[in-house]
Amino acid sequence: MPKPGELILESPRRPKPPLHWSDLSVAQRKEKIVELGLPGFRADQISRHWYSRLSDQPETWTDMPESLRTEVKEKFFPELMTSIKSLSCDNGTTVKQVWKLFDGVLVESVLMRYPDRVTMCISSQAGCGMNCPFCATGQGGLTRNLTTAEIVEQVLAGARALARGEIAGGVGRVNNLVFMGMGEPMANYSSVIEAIRRLTDEPPAGLGMSARGITVSTVGLVPRIKQLADEGLPVTLAISLHAPDDELRDTLVPINTRFKVSEVLDAAWYYAAKTGRRISIEYALIKDINDQAWRADLLGELLSGHLVHVNLIPLNPTPGSKWTASRPEDEREFVRRLKNHGVAVTVRDTRGREIDGACGQLAASAK
Ligand code: SAH
Repeated sequence: MPKPGELILESPRRPKPPLHWSDLSVAQRKEKIVELGLPGFRADQISRHWYSRLSDQPETWTDMPESLRTEVKEKFFPELMTSIKSLSCDNGTTVKQVWKLFDGVLVESVLMRYPDRVTMCISSQAGCGMNCPFCATGQGGLTRNLTTAEIVEQVLAGARALARGEIAGGVGRVNNLVFMGMGEPMANYSSVIEAIRRLTDEPPAGLGMSARGITVSTVGLVPRIKQLADEGLPVTLAISLHAPDDELRDTLVPINTRFKVSEVLDAAWYYAAKTGRRISIEYALIKDINDQAWRADLLGELLSGHLVHVNLIPLNPTPGSKWTASRPEDEREFVRRLKNHGVAVTVRDTRGREIDGACGQLAASAK
């Protein structure tokens, strides 16, 4: 267990999961196929089965010879993760999956169906090294980075379940994606970017999701935010701010000891200017900690006039924490003051709380 405030910025070295088709770019897939002495068109054929038809059983891909199906399955479709637990609430429209990875490591993803859309919340790391004291994931430290395919396959598992009508509400598809599960996506930068490319690549190369429907949430790793801005991927950037002043933010989001509030916001404005995308500011309201009226005013002053939207999250209590969500009247006052500064604000719902599937509750226990 990390000590309070201790940061883990590098993933511990661990055995790598076996290579998966979703780890490979379109060009790399073709190379691999040609290396096997096969015609290049087989690569597209395989991708079409996996991403367009959402078929995860190569043995049924009858437009390929049987021996090839077997070879392809062995080489490119190892079982990366097995579902060891599935919990649902809201009449089956919120579903949390606990996945066991090839090395026994556990991660979680959550699917949330709304009347007009499906959002998936996925993990980018097993554990997290950012050590925010109010977040369950941070308490166990960082086990390892997930690979590109381990990230992509969380989404495909949801997409398949929806396509097969296995989720309450009937056949559907994944519309939105938030990197708000376990882990700090900007600390696993290259795998996350590659995963976003796979997810947004047009079929048959990838899943064909809209980048605008994807939100990358970060504690504020400034150099990475700038790098993401220059990537040419119009994803939504969410900043987990949680405090407008360095003194409090140093304790709530320990990376603030490296990158100050002003630096994080400057990087966010750079992102907005480069991409034209509105920044989302995440702020978990914690009773008597960060919910004072003066902090609402200070936050309003910092954000006023920028392309930004504030998402207030009533704190989801985590086991053993001394903190709870703000009083309703304090929450209302916080909202009112932000609005007075002309800042757009919404209060996030707490879907999945009772299955420990809400923001900050993902701890991936097998229990
Ligand atoms: N590491 C990334 C993404 C994962 S957390 C990040 O920090 O942004 C997703 C969001 O949930 C973050 O805004 C995080 O601060 C917030 N969160 C964490 N624990 C929470 C809790 N107990 N209650 C409410 N929100 C929480």
